Amino acid sequence: MDAQPTASHFVNGAYLEDRDGPRIPVIFPATGEEIAVVHGATPAVVEAALAAAEAAKGAWAALSPGERGRVLRRAADIIRDRNEALSQLETLDTGKPIQETRIADATSGADSLEYFGGLAAGLTGEHIPLPGGDWAYTMRLPLGVCVGIGAWNYPTQIACWKSAPALTCGNTMVFKPSETTPLSALKIAEIYIEAGLPPGVFNVIQGFGDVGAALVADARVAKVSLTGSARTGRKVYQAAAAGMKHATMELGGKSPLIIFDDAELEDAVSGAINANFYASGQVCSNGTRVFVQTGIKGAFLDRLAERVGKAVIGDPRDDGTNFGPMVSEEQVKIVMDYIDLGVKEGARLVYGGHRLNRPGWYIEPTIFADVTDDMTIAREEIFGPVMSVLDFETEDEVVARANATELGLSGAVFTRDLTRAHRVIGRIEAGSCWINQYNLTPVEIPFGGMKGSGIGRENSKAAIEAYSQIKTVYVGMGRVEAAF
Ligand code: NAD
Repeated sequence: MDAQPTASHFVNGAYLEDRDGPRIPVIFPATGEEIAVVHGATPAVVEAALAAAEAAKGAWAALSPGERGRVLRRAADIIRDRNEALSQLETLDTGKPIQETRIADATSGADSLEYFGGLAAGLTGEHIPLPGGDWAYTMRLPLGVCVGIGAWNYPTQIACWKSAPALTCGNTMVFKPSETTPLSALKIAEIYIEAGLPPGVFNVIQGFGDVGAALVADARVAKVSLTGSARTGRKVYQAAAAGMKHATMELGGKSPLIIFDDAELEDAVSGAINANFYASGQVCSNGTRVFVQTGIKGAFLDRLAERVGKAVIGDPRDDGTNFGPMVSEEQVKIVMDYIDLGVKEGARLVYGGHRLNRPGWYIEPTIFADVTDDMTIAREEIFGPVMSVLDFETEDEVVARANATELGLSGAVFTRDLTRAHRVIGRIEAGSCWINQYNLTPVEIPFGGMKGSGIGRENSKAAIEAYSQIKTVYVGMGRVEAAF
């Protein structure tokens, strides 16, 4: 498959190139080969994208929501039709196994376009009766030009999760993918045009953080939605605040997965695997602090090691591979440093822990047991296939320890005790939680973090609030009284 895009950027309905921008190589993580090259946006490209989005916003907002929704639903159908090609491209760009990308990337993007496209015609204001025959109405209005900035773990999904609600609400968007995975958002831009989206409504430009920062700082931009690290989030949120812009921040986590003695063992093991090793652990909502009640600890660790031993580590293009490489050499270094720290600080390595001796950026699925709350691997987001297993005795103890973090993206509990499940999850300080399940994030349910993990929610009806504003009109039906 030829991964090289027609040009680096997609602006005002067409591909756009400007080779004066910094060269950004696209590397296939399984081999280290350069498979494409794009260039970061120059100031001229940034300007072209913002000008296109600004020029397109009036006519797009003037359509009825139902008309806008129709375009999104057509685009969703095209994405589904092209799922195989889009999945292969996503696998080349990210290194994620094709068996994952076929079901979790373009399809999740299509779900989002379909959901918001379907919701569109229902976007209405309210009629509010008032004393004396007066009344008021509200209008749900777009914000204007929105900026979307993506991380590298779910490039297609992030482009869709941000653009679908934004466009449905009548906004336009300039999207900047991560410099590590620049390819798939361009395909989404192409598909939108094929589906009938007017030029300029969705634009994609490439670049490093400085391009993101230039977009966020521009006075024409009304809203910024970032998916990225907590560190970047703090910078972008500050820059957005300086311009009184709306902001959605989808940031990192260090989420707790709590397994009680009475949990169904196989499900708890599956949950822990899904919470740590999907996408080679590069998932923001991962449950990387696995708290296991001491009564089930031995059985849990034995079964976990046995099942993780069955991971098929290989070329992500092969149908049978279910565990692929890390996204980049840099990420391998970050993760290996954490693994070394885990060993140094006294955690017990029970599985993996090594870089594989083969081309590409592979790290074994890694499990540490006897991890304590103060260890670095239990405190910082690693963003790799490293699971920390911590022991606990009581419910109160585990809730306090689970919440003792500045982050609050996700959390989960595995137990067969119905009331305990709801009681414990009710006390977890996190935005996206599961009971006896992990990491399922269908478009119908809100997704996002509490505390340092972010602001606002993506997906579901909650995302409509994030991309629209309300105008209130008071209608006087009687005479106007005044004091003098
Ligand atoms: P990152 O923070 O390094 O980069 C994210 C994006 O921000 C990139 O496109 C980058 O170019 C851009 N950027 C960097 N500095 C900027 C600045 N000053 N102004 C504007 N844009 C800037 O994150 P990453 O390494 O690409 O992704 C991994 C992180 O993303 C992890 O922390 C992970 O938890 C998080 N993440 C969160 C979610 C979520 O929905 N909560 C989903 C996926 C990933």
